[in-house]
Amino acid sequence: SLKGRRALVTGSTSGIGLGIARALAAAGADIMLNGFGDAAEIETIKAGLAREFGVKTGYDGADMSKPEQIEALVAKTVAALGGLDIVVNNAGIQHTSPVDQFPVDKWDAIIAINLSSSFHTIRAALPAMRQGGWGRIVNIASAHGLVASANKSAYVAAKHGLVGLTKVVALETANDGITCNAICPGWVLTPLVQKQIDARAKNEGITVEQAELDLLGEKQPAKRFTTPEQLGELAVFLCSDAAANMTGSAYSMDGGWTAQ
Ligand code: NAD
Repeated sequence: SLKGRRALVTGSTSGIGLGIARALAAAGADIMLNGFGDAAEIETIKAGLAREFGVKTGYDGADMSKPEQIEALVAKTVAALGGLDIVVNNAGIQHTSPVDQFPVDKWDAIIAINLSSSFHTIRAALPAMRQGGWGRIVNIASAHGLVASANKSAYVAAKHGLVGLTKVVALETANDGITCNAICPGWVLTPLVQKQIDARAKNEGITVEQAELDLLGEKQPAKRFTTPEQLGELAVFLCSDAAANMTGSAYSMDGGWTAQ
């Protein structure tokens, strides 16, 4: 059980982050939510988790592309929950384009949100974790942290970087009761991927259903999406005592994508 553990999950108003926040709360952890979205919907999520699982919940809308807002988010989490034991670095965005046409502002935003934000949460959170002598850092990388796809230069660079950062932090915390691991999902049907499916249907003049099958068939041999619930269970396991000696690794949940 994660009862009494205090967790920050970035980008947890939607998709994978929300699935992980739910799973951690179900295991008993108090949760600081973060991410963009409709204020009333976020309040419903926050109050719902607290009611359903009897845990403390908070929310902060820090923009994960802004280092000073990230520092404030971590400080607010420590103050609101009374400490910080678990950080799940999940916030992320996507943009696809050939590298020579890749908009510079999109490159900068993807590197900031998908990579640098994890550096900032980790450096801000480590003192609180070391104080408690226990910590779990889970970085949501991607199959694209291990292999590449065309038209995703910024995303692939950021996610490979995140897997590298994971290894370094694991080495630096190896004797502190803290672990740092990456999770590498394949396709998960979230708004981030729905956009890519819709664009594919439009560009190729095919139905959304066909575009979904084509997208899966191209990369993911199991031809099924990984779900936020499944990823939540993996994150909970990485936070368990059984996983105390798992550190510095990248765990795939990708229907065979990176086995090829
Ligand atoms: P999503 O769009 O459903 O959720 C992204 C979350 O990040 C939202 O809560 C959003 O508000 C938040 N966010 C975006 N920009 C932010 C910012 N600047 N500051 C704070 N919060 C911000 O996407 P998702 O598919 O759930 O993606 C979550 C993570 O999983 C991302 O890091 C993504 O790269 C990774 N991932 C997704 C897939 C997939 O197939 N969906 C596969 C592998 C990895």
